[in-house]
Amino acid sequence: MLRGDGKLTHELDPSDTGPQDACGVFGVWAPGEDVAKLTYYGLYALQHRGQEAAGIAVSAGTGVVVYKELGLVSQVFDESTLASLQGHLAIGHARYSTTGGSTWENAQPTLRSTSAGTSVALAHNGNLVNTGELARKVAATGIGAQGPVSTNDTSLVTSLLASDPDRSLEQAALEVLPTLRGAFSFVFMDEHTLYAARDPQGVRPLVLGRLESGWVVASETAALDIVGASMVREVEPGELIAIDEGGLRSERFAMPEPKGCIFEYVYLARPDTTIAGRGVHATRVEIGRRLAAQNPVDADLVIPVPESGTPAAVGYAQASGIPYGLGLVKNSYVGRTFIQPSQTIRQLGIRLKLNPLRDVIRGKRLVVVDDSIVRGNTQRALVRMLREAGAVEVHVRISSPPVKWPCFYGIDFASKAELIANGLDTEGIRAAIGADSLSYVSLDELVAATEQPRKRLCMACFDGKYPIPLPADDMIGKHVLEGIERGVGHEPLPLVASPGGAGALSRP
Ligand code: SF4
Repeated sequence: MLRGDGKLTHELDPSDTGPQDACGVFGVWAPGEDVAKLTYYGLYALQHRGQEAAGIAVSAGTGVVVYKELGLVSQVFDESTLASLQGHLAIGHARYSTTGGSTWENAQPTLRSTSAGTSVALAHNGNLVNTGELARKVAATGIGAQGPVSTNDTSLVTSLLASDPDRSLEQAALEVLPTLRGAFSFVFMDEHTLYAARDPQGVRPLVLGRLESGWVVASETAALDIVGASMVREVEPGELIAIDEGGLRSERFAMPEPKGCIFEYVYLARPDTTIAGRGVHATRVEIGRRLAAQNPVDADLVIPVPESGTPAAVGYAQASGIPYGLGLVKNSYVGRTFIQPSQTIRQLGIRLKLNPLRDVIRGKRLVVVDDSIVRGNTQRALVRMLREAGAVEVHVRISSPPVKWPCFYGIDFASKAELIANGLDTEGIRAAIGADSLSYVSLDELVAATEQPRKRLCMACFDGKYPIPLPADDMIGKHVLEGIERGVGHEPLPLVASPGGAGALSRP
């Protein structure tokens, strides 16, 4: 039975979700350390990247054991579970689903045994775009088998890595990784070795850190900080790293063509994380400054939509000279994650999440700074709530350009048709959300704030230029494998047995 931790999540109001992150990964090789606990705290630091499921794989040299479950990291693991996960290397995963539904079978790390008697466990941040092709390859190897059915791209990769008993995992990785298309920051392991690999575009982050007695890899530098590891460097795009008692080996499986996700700076990454040498918090403050310079307005108070709008609101206030204040309080502890809200509660909508400070707001002309607009439902409710609380004007400022295109590399925004900026121009969106004015930061100013060369960034959700080619429409999307299994538009394929099926522990 999963335990609620009292925190409000988007589960409470599924009609009103913002961008959903695509997972956090963590790996550690450290003989003599409690690797399961290090992984637990690493995942805890990465919880913002995925809240649907969590899992840890561990090895003491004789076999790989996986424990995974739906829920938050703090709900899935307790002292006794962690104490049962003994070993010298471990990987972990916090999941938000981008390919395959939110089911136990799709939780990670995935696990697959080879006929040579070894095991492969794998955790993935990102999303592949040649999933259909990979499913056919797996089917052709004949390694699909009985067992619980998983429908995620990660399990296909695990199957391919484990498909040839005569190859070492390292050899298999060097053959399989170049055949993958899309975004992948992987951590994976067998009984003895920790591996990390990043797609040639380096769409999702992945960093390498050093412990006194070992090595750590993680999605974000903040996870290194939390386990006391020092940052060594980023895992390079197109690089495979292997770590075992022989030390650290680095091999290149593809030429790097860097296209880091610009949305990591806007919203996804923690503010205390560093990407390509640039602090995320500093970047967000700078975006806010540029937003103010581009879109000035006469107002009395700048307030953030907490918490993701906070650094940009600070920057907006600094550059505009308008005082900064808190006008909205986030309700972090109003519901239990696994209790479905009643219809009455659901109708409260945004009030479940944010409550206005009426004394601060009353009689004021407000600038409200938020990170992005996806469907517009949140901002419409927010503007109405601020007016009811006594605001005389509400000017909405957004620290990213209009999101017009879906992401196929690991972020679940919404379908193209659901994106409000796909059908309406800025004036239309302003009218739809009921604001007195609405402005977005331009793409040029956003890029400038990251201090990254434009050519090294993916901006496809803003400009529609996808840096990794996409397959035909019917072979992409979150439920592509469910579609293939049903034979939608294709010859039905044999189901792929879940690598999580055999050898994985389940909560009794
Ligand atoms: S499409 Fe947007 S969210 Fe997706 S990887 Fe590119 S910049 Fe990031």
